[in-house]
Amino acid sequence: MPSPADEPIPPEGIPAALAAELSDRTPEELRNTIIYAQELLQFHDETASPVIPGPNEEILRSTERDGYTEVVKRTTCADGCDDCPHGPYLYHLKEESRPEGGTKVRWTFLGEVSLAE
Ligand SMILES: [Zn+2]
Repeated sequence: MPSPADEPIPPEGIPAALAAELSDRTPEELRNTIIYAQELLQFHDETASPVIPGPNEEILRSTERDGYTEVVKRTTCADGCDDCPHGPYLYHLKEESRPEGGTKVRWTFLGEVSLAE
């Protein structure tokens, strides 16, 4: 068991009650929480503007192209790991019509890119 001194400090932007709740969960419950959080994120992505960075993301470049938007994004883990920051990664964002109506922005991950221009 890790000692209490090693316990991670919750990042800013997490409600204290949620952080306290999470710190009491078992590893299995935490894994399922991550999966649930990712599903919620995908759900929100359908309406949120795709180019607005999340709390641990940094948009380095956003370029309108013919039919899509090219975005270079860098991400940082909430706790910060040895490899942080990650990226920059290149994505193509394309708005697609959904059969049930409306549109959805599809992020296509194209790989890591060099920062040098
Ligand atoms: Zn990291």
